[in-house]
This record gives sequence, C-alpha cells and structure tokens, in this order.
Amino acid sequence: VRAKGQAYFDQNDEPVRFVGSVLDITEQKEDELRKNDFIGMVSHELKTPLTSLKAIIQMANLKLKNTDDAFLAGAMEKANVQVKRMTNMINGFLNVSRLESAKLQIDKHKFDLAEMIEETVKEINLTITSHAIEFERINTVFVNADRDKIISVATNLISNAIKYSPKGKVVEVKCEVIGDNVQVSVKDEGMGLKPQDVSKVFDRYFRVESNHTRHIAGFGIGLYLSAEIIHRHDGKIWVESESDNGSTFYFSLPI
Ligand code: ADP
Repeated sequence: VRAKGQAYFDQNDEPVRFVGSVLDITEQKEDELRKNDFIGMVSHELKTPLTSLKAIIQMANLKLKNTDDAFLAGAMEKANVQVKRMTNMINGFLNVSRLESAKLQIDKHKFDLAEMIEETVKEINLTITSHAIEFERINTVFVNADRDKIISVATNLISNAIKYSPKGKVVEVKCEVIGDNVQVSVKDEGMGLKPQDVSKVFDRYFRVESNHTRHIAGFGIGLYLSAEIIHRHDGKIWVESESDNGSTFYFSLPI
C-alpha cells in the first residue's frame, strides 16, 4: 500500500487524523513480478537452442578448415556474428529481469562487503580476458545489506566499465571506509560521459546516443535498478566522468 499525505497529532502526540490518499499497489507489483518472470523464463528458454546453434557452427567451422570454400566460410562467420549478437541480447534480458526482481524485495543480513567485492571481481576475471580488473581492498568491513542485490549492483558497474571501455584497458575496483560509510568505486579508462549525460545515466531507459555506443547492446535499465537497490539500503550512488577520459562510478553504504 502506498500512502501520501499528512498526519495530525493532538497535544499528547497521539495521531488523530490523516489527510491524503492511500493506494493499493499490490496488483501493480504482482503485474510487474509476472512480467518479469515471463521475460526471465523466455530468455532462459531461448538460451538452449542458441547453445546448440553455437555448437553446430563450431563443428561446421572445424570441418571447413580443410576446405577452401570462401562462400561457406563467409556464411559461417556471419552466422557466428548473429549468434553472438543474440546471445548478448538474451544475457541483457536475463540481467534486466534479475535486477528487476532484485529491487522488489530486500533481504538484509550482516556480511563482509570487502570480501564480497573481492569474490565478485575474481569471478568476473575468470570469464573476461579483454580487460584487466584490479582490486584494492581493506581488511573487513561489515554492512547490513542484501548480499545478492549488492553483488548485482557491483557486477553491473564492472560490466559497464568493461562494455564502455576499449579492450586491453584497466578497470580499477576499490573498497574504502570513509567516515561511517563504506565506499566502492569502479574506475574505467573508457569513453566517459558528456556533462549533459552525467545527470541522466541513472534514469530508466536512458542510453547515450553516439557512434561509439550504437553497437553496444543494452537496455538503459541497469544503472536505474542499481540506484533503486542502493537507495533502498539508505546508500548513495553517483558518477564522476569526463568525455573521452574515463568514468568512475561510486556507491556507498552505511557501515
Ligand atoms: P545499458 O548499459 O544496458 O545501456 P545502463 O543503465 O547500465 O544500461 O547504462 C546506461 C547508459 O549509461 C549506457 O547506455 C551508457 O550510455 C552509459 N554508461 C554506463 N556505464 C558507463 C561507463 N562506464 N562509461 C561510459 N558510459 C557508461
């Protein structure tokens, strides 16, 4: 239920009156959940035939090595590019549906954020060879938060740093204590953001329109959902960036 309005109290601070509106959003939430489940399920189902297709193309390519049929080789190369595009799109859908459901329910426990970030970086490093992801950590820092959701946010920021910076560049991940908060930063050496785009990157469906970004798959929803998750933890999320000079995305959580 979402309520909006003003409460009135008597001399003893007892509530006497509430003026405003109360809106039942259960149905809206259920709708959102169903839609989300559907996207997740369809994306997952699409992955199976796509994996077979990838294997078939790989096998055909092995056979083709012994022939010099330029037409067939070209056709296989094109098929491979399309399979890769589709895989990226489906992974994007899965990411969106994962983040969408992540924002709906926050389940807090105490855990070591420094260790969690280190694990996330390690895992990404296992699957990525295009960039060097460096991590600088402090010993331990405990937060009361939803571990899986914070992993989604960190993964999203690191994936973006990889997506929006050229191959071979370094991505620097840092975890530090500042006052009563722990701050995580993800710094890339990528294309950066124009001043007018900096304030918009956390808006739903916002994507920078440029020749650089046009061929990069995405839905403009990852940062919006990351911000929702961080705000639900009473944390902050922001970016410092300069066009052509890299970006640093930050989030901080109360310790
Ligand atoms: P997506 O990457 O799926 O488009 P996001 O919400 O994660 O969606 O990001 C929104 C937009 O912000 C991106 O489309 C891109 O234009 C810009 N952006 C995000 N991260 C970076 C980054 N590290 N460097 C430059 N631009 C970025």
